[in-house]
Amino acid sequence: MANKREFPLEQTRNIGIVAHIDAGKTTTTERILYYTGRIHKIGETHDGASQMDWMAQEQERGITITSAATTAEWKGHRINIIDTPGHVDFTVEVERSLRVLDGAVVVLDAQSGVEPQTENVWRQATTYSVPRIVFVNKMDKMGADFDYSVSTIRDRLQANAVAVQMPIGAEDEFEGVIDLIEMKADLYDEDELGSEWDTVDIPDEYKETAQKHRDEMLEQLADLDEDIMEKYLEGEEIPVDEIKAAIRKATLNLDIYPVFAGSAFKNKGVQMMLDGVNDFLPSPLDVPAYKATDADTGEEVELHADDEAPFAGLAFKIATDPFVGRLTFFRVYTGTLEAGSYVLNATKDKRERVGRLLQMHSNHRKEIPEVFSGDIAAAIGLKNTTTGDSLTATDRPLILESMEFPDPVIQVSIEPNSKADQDKMDVALQKLAEEDPTFKAETNQETGETLIAGMGELHLDIIVDRMKREFNVEAKVGAPQVAYRETFTKKVSAQGKFVRQSGGKGQYGDVWVEFEPTEEGEGFSFENAIVGGVVPREYIPAVE
Ligand code: GDP
Repeated sequence: MANKREFPLEQTRNIGIVAHIDAGKTTTTERILYYTGRIHKIGETHDGASQMDWMAQEQERGITITSAATTAEWKGHRINIIDTPGHVDFTVEVERSLRVLDGAVVVLDAQSGVEPQTENVWRQATTYSVPRIVFVNKMDKMGADFDYSVSTIRDRLQANAVAVQMPIGAEDEFEGVIDLIEMKADLYDEDELGSEWDTVDIPDEYKETAQKHRDEMLEQLADLDEDIMEKYLEGEEIPVDEIKAAIRKATLNLDIYPVFAGSAFKNKGVQMMLDGVNDFLPSPLDVPAYKATDADTGEEVELHADDEAPFAGLAFKIATDPFVGRLTFFRVYTGTLEAGSYVLNATKDKRERVGRLLQMHSNHRKEIPEVFSGDIAAAIGLKNTTTGDSLTATDRPLILESMEFPDPVIQVSIEPNSKADQDKMDVALQKLAEEDPTFKAETNQETGETLIAGMGELHLDIIVDRMKREFNVEAKVGAPQVAYRETFTKKVSAQGKFVRQSGGKGQYGDVWVEFEPTEEGEGFSFENAIVGGVVPREYIPAVE
């Protein structure tokens, strides 16, 4: 193997940042990228430079839709941040990202605590057994209440929240955090954009409460860890490393959820939470083996992160990049993959060539010669691969547990503003459907309309918006028409007037008519005729 891995597996973290909309996921992510040295000016995201929310409409709407992955480094660890959307329409995207990440940071608004969408993603994360830490954000906000937020984790999520920090002050007076493990205070310097803080002894006025909170934390750990229990009961000093190890173990087991406090906006507490990512969230070596099926033999195979094994990975996101075109984001479960080599898309039984491999950093992309197990990268050149496809070594067809995509829940008709745009619109819709397995476009044979379907109104709004921005197609949407056809043996009392008879076979044959509403009472009568047409649903006549 000519190339060297940059980070040992045990120092790799694949994480998602999940939150109820507006809790501060974007701000927190932006600060993480800032502190990990990849963004050099705070606020670049909102100023329009493309960071995590790189699609324009995401910025306008203040939500994050794509699930692209961004690579950052913190204290000798590689942290891949897999972006997860916060809006309920995109729950399936959240699910898709949970599939490929190993741990998550759940961001709460310190005033609201757990909110409805927090409950949703929490449940999804539990389904996929994703270990979590919680960042109680907005400690500077009016009404911020750390203890209340922690209590909502316990009450609303029935989760064993363990506060590993306590805030120093709140609202205007939020100054920093006390680390209950090390029993030190991190006090921030207001003028230094949070890049500087002093680690000092806990101020006298906080000593007692800090000790009380620390005891609570230790009692929670003692319930799960006999060594801690023994030492705690004996009144023995428990070394910091042992406490951290116990927290790590319990977090990986989903027995506890360590809670941190901060204010992303005021640049406080983000660095300590990042330490928590390194300390408590799993590396690819800590997660259960990924299950796959050998496509030839039907045998079940367990995939462990291991560079020496044959390559197997999962495509989790297709994106169109303005510069390089189609990108396939994938997670490597086992083995390694070199740029320029061939893979088997085992799902589609197609060999494909990986032209180039990229890793996305917040403000630059890095071309890499090879991607190693446990890591995430984007491939250029995979033309037939769609979300959820298994990619494997060409001689080892494995189907990784596939992702399930729910059926769309709403459907609307879409029409380009000018007829000339129809072809362009068809191409755009096809591309968008390739990227997004929960989005469908079809032509209704009977009405001739183009129908698009997705997970909610916002989802479809965004599709229409992207058509305009990326494909230059303006279109309007409306309620789908229905093809209506009914055989009448009785008199039809239509609330409408049939305006055109477009076909007729004999006296009682197929009568295909179009009609529009008129005064009540002006009925039409057909016997043993089939009448129908492309009509808005409310025009369908009553049959007497
Ligand atoms: P997202 O929807 O979860 O991505 O939330 P954003 O990061 O876009 O934040 C939503 C709003 O909350 C924005 O107006 C942010 O400026 C604000 N915000 C984010 N973090 C904080 C914080 O720590 N304190 C305060 N006071 N406001 C914040």
